[in-house]
Amino acid sequence: MTTKRYTTFTTELRQRFGCRVQRIALDAGLTCPNRDGSLGIGGCSFCGDRGAAAVGVQIELPLAEQLQRSKEYLRRKFRADRFLGYFQAYSNTYASVGALRILYQTVLDDPELAGMIIGTRPDCLPDPVLDLLTELHAKTYLWLELGMQTMHDQTLAAINRGHDHTCLVEAVQRCQDRGLRVCVHLILGLPGETREQMLASVRELNRLGVDGVKLHHLHVLKGSRLVDDYQRGTLRLLEREEYVQLVCDALELLDPRIVIHRLMGDGRSELLAPDWSRRKLEVLNLIDAELLKRDSRQGCRLSE
Ligand code: SF4
Repeated sequence: MTTKRYTTFTTELRQRFGCRVQRIALDAGLTCPNRDGSLGIGGCSFCGDRGAAAVGVQIELPLAEQLQRSKEYLRRKFRADRFLGYFQAYSNTYASVGALRILYQTVLDDPELAGMIIGTRPDCLPDPVLDLLTELHAKTYLWLELGMQTMHDQTLAAINRGHDHTCLVEAVQRCQDRGLRVCVHLILGLPGETREQMLASVRELNRLGVDGVKLHHLHVLKGSRLVDDYQRGTLRLLEREEYVQLVCDALELLDPRIVIHRLMGDGRSELLAPDWSRRKLEVLNLIDAELLKRDSRQGCRLSE
C-alpha cells in the first residue's frame, strides 16, 4: 500500500504485475532529427551530450547485453522481479520500421521483461511507425513517452525544440486513436516562463487526457546550449524550495488518473547546476512533506 499522495508508477506496476518491476534504461544508438541536421544540429537547449541517456548505460554494448547487465544490478540493488526495457536516449522511433522492429524485438524476446517504454519526439511518429507501435501494444505492456516540455510556442522556439505545441497535440491524439498509453515530459522552470504559464501546461495535460507524466526541473548539463547562458549569469534556475512548491501545485491540479512516472530528473555525472538536484531523495521527501503539510493530494484542485 502506497503512502504517497499521488499516483505513482511504482504502484501502477505493482498492481498490474503483482511484483517489483524496474525500468532498464537502454541506449539503442539512435539519434534525433534536432541533432543530425534534418531539423537542426544543436538540439534542444537543455539536451546534454548524451541525448537524455541515463547515467551508466553502456552504449558500446549490444542491447541484449545492456539488458543482462542491468538486470543483474537491479536484482541485487532493488530485488526486482521483472523489468521494463526503457528506450530512453535520443528519439527511439527515428529509424526505419525494419530497424525499429529488430530493436523492440530484443525486449519482446526476453521473458523477464514485462514490457517496454519508448521515448521519442512528437514529430517522429509517421503512420508506419505508429502501426508498429500498435502491434507492439497488442503484444506487451507498452508506454510511449513524448517530449512536450511546455505548451507555450514562444518557449518551445526559445529552447529550440523544432516543433510547436500543435504538433504534440496532434501526436497525442493519433496515439490515443490507436489506444496507445501516452506519457508526456514537462519541464518546470524553462527560461522566461511564469508560474501561471507552467501551471497552464500542467492543466493542458488534463485536457489532453494523457495517461502519464514525467515532471522535470530545468537543469544545466555539460555540453548543452544552456551552459553559456548559465556561465554568463543570464539563466535563472529554480531554487529547491520553489521547485517543491511548484510540483505540489502541479500535483494538486493534475487528474489523479494520470500516473506520475517521475517528479524530477536524476542527479547525473554531467550535471552542472543546480546543485540541489544531486540529492533527489531529499527533494522527493520535501514534496511528500509539503503535500502532508497542505493536507492535499493529486487532483484536489482539479476543478480550478
Ligand atoms: S532532448 Fe530529445 S529531441 Fe531534444 S535534442 Fe535531445 S534527443 Fe533530440
